[in-house]
Amino acid sequence: MPVIFIGHGSPTNALETNDATRGWSRIAGAIRRPRAILCISAHWCTRGTAVTAMAAPRTIHDFGPLSPRLFEIRYPAPGSPELAGRVRDLLAPDAVTLDTSWGLDHGTWAVLLKAYPEADIPVVQLSMDITRPPQWHVEMGARLQPLRDEGILILGSGNIVHNLSLLNWDPESKPYDWAQRFNERIKECIVRNDSMTICGYQDLGSDAVLAAPNPDHFWPLLYVLGARRVEDAVTFTTDFIQYRSLGMTSACFSAPPLVV
Ligand code: ZN
Repeated sequence: MPVIFIGHGSPTNALETNDATRGWSRIAGAIRRPRAILCISAHWCTRGTAVTAMAAPRTIHDFGPLSPRLFEIRYPAPGSPELAGRVRDLLAPDAVTLDTSWGLDHGTWAVLLKAYPEADIPVVQLSMDITRPPQWHVEMGARLQPLRDEGILILGSGNIVHNLSLLNWDPESKPYDWAQRFNERIKECIVRNDSMTICGYQDLGSDAVLAAPNPDHFWPLLYVLGARRVEDAVTFTTDFIQYRSLGMTSACFSAPPLVV
């Protein structure tokens, strides 16, 4: 299976058909149907690591006052206690809690709703331990690599550029210069497989301070980079900045390269 980073952007994408959502659908059409999906979402940060282990995860509407239609969306994909147990075993000796209270947050379901609208593939979420440094998250991703040979799609869902305080809802608005520069810088590092520089992104100056003011949306990329293999080629399936400060870049790592 490939390993994929998705720029998920605003929850309102779930209500739209746009360049980003069309890109998510195209990926699903271009890869093998996964046996199950393991999603590392920007929206589940914890102290310690947890994996959803319930048979029927709930749909979580973890956002502020947006369209009431968003709150009506359900994504009733089954969970997979079996995959949760496998993830816990792979991440040992680090402790992983088998969680039965979280579910699928919008970092997961807003994307999967477009990629797999039938909601018939089991989905498990893995949380990100906010107490750990970036390199640790890459190492966790590396431990998940064997899942790729077991038909499991590893999906990191966040945004390389994510600054909510500076976004502009005008769909015609142009990206900030710093947003574009940071996005290009990180893409260059992805292409040359330079995860060291990506882990040190906070040292990349004022562009980084503006583009990734909090780690939550940036870190899912680190798991994907960890699960990447040297033979993988990268395909940027979508690559633009929405609402001035939300990077919608998605990257698929696979051998042979993904054709979308
Ligand atoms: Zn988000």
